[in-house]
Amino acid sequence: ICPFDSINERSEIDEVKAAIADPNKIVVFQTAPAVRVGLGEEFGLDAGTFVEGKMVAALRKLGGDYILDTNFGADMTIMEEASELLERVINSDAVLPQFTSCCPAWVKFAETFYPEFLPNLSTAKSPIAMQAPTQKTYFAEKMGLDAKQIVAVAVTPCTAKKFEIRRDEMNSSAEYWDVSEMRDTDYCITTRELAKWLRAEEINFDELEDSAFDPLMGEASGGGIIFGNTGGVMEAAMRAAYKLATGEDAPQTLIPFEAIRGMDGAREADVVIGDKTLHVAAVHGTGNLRKFIERMRAENIHYDFIEVMACRGGCIGGGGQPRVKLPMADKAREARIASLYTRDAEVQVKAACDNPDIQKLYAEFFDGKPMSHKAHHMLHTTFVSRAEDLGPNGACTPATCPTSV
Ligand code: SF4
Repeated sequence: ICPFDSINERSEIDEVKAAIADPNKIVVFQTAPAVRVGLGEEFGLDAGTFVEGKMVAALRKLGGDYILDTNFGADMTIMEEASELLERVINSDAVLPQFTSCCPAWVKFAETFYPEFLPNLSTAKSPIAMQAPTQKTYFAEKMGLDAKQIVAVAVTPCTAKKFEIRRDEMNSSAEYWDVSEMRDTDYCITTRELAKWLRAEEINFDELEDSAFDPLMGEASGGGIIFGNTGGVMEAAMRAAYKLATGEDAPQTLIPFEAIRGMDGAREADVVIGDKTLHVAAVHGTGNLRKFIERMRAENIHYDFIEVMACRGGCIGGGGQPRVKLPMADKAREARIASLYTRDAEVQVKAACDNPDIQKLYAEFFDGKPMSHKAHHMLHTTFVSRAEDLGPNGACTPATCPTSV
């Protein structure tokens, strides 16, 4: 479909296998929220089957030393992003709306086609990009590991993450340890690539006994779980923002946040937090996004917070997920989304700020609170205009493709 044939997957499984075989390396996997509701489809299970336990067991069987959960990183992103939003809303000089920035395809799309929105992008890094440097600093220190030996591998539904992990800014752990050769995330493999690897190793996925994530960075709130679907980042942010601003649990109008759920291209709602009413929206798909922005500008609509995910349905429909042929694609997406919401309904802790492991991390490592000097240095990032990468007449090129590696 891409006119330049620039959308492809460059597998890094051989590099990960070499790290596993090296006795001087410690391989730490993290797994994104959407992988666990897609991976089973590669092994004949129904769309959306929740296979978290088998996924963790499979990564242990492949030789991972530690298996951690990107959902924990999603809780970190929410802590920073919700706090940043509250600061922007309180400060009358701040730039609004705040756009989410956890989708690297949307970030590159904005850098290329809408550089005027760069001040609007949340500076909070994505879940993978927060989890990774925290693994090589906080986790390494707590576990007595040599950070230089850690090989960090992200398992994701996303081909654009292969680009994100190589951005110059993703090197906070190297700055922390004052070394030059360290990257926060070393490799990224997709859900489909993981399935291919498991088949090549002749691992019987069905027969794997469930395994649990390793502690410290393996438990997440419901907010972290639903990060994998369109509207989930918004819902998670509103739960945390409400609690952080008022000290009270988010009300039933926010859990579940029905107004922002579903597959419509753009959904919006008003959220009352203390004495403020925030106008928020969630958009998925770049086609929907262009229409949304045109309407926002034409009708001069004020928004406070806008979630943007480039893939239809959010990360559960990412480019690295199992492929489902039309006309069943939306049915599969909806089944994956329903599976994440079911899991969210099962867990007790709904908001990132109530996650005990998140509270411990901030108390012991990030100077007690989100947006602290240390948190800002390690967990926030910057953006660059790529408008000059556009081809003749503003056409896209391989350099501007949001999902090329
Ligand atoms: Fe990646 Fe798609 Fe998720 Fe964006 S929406 S982070 S491109 S999988």
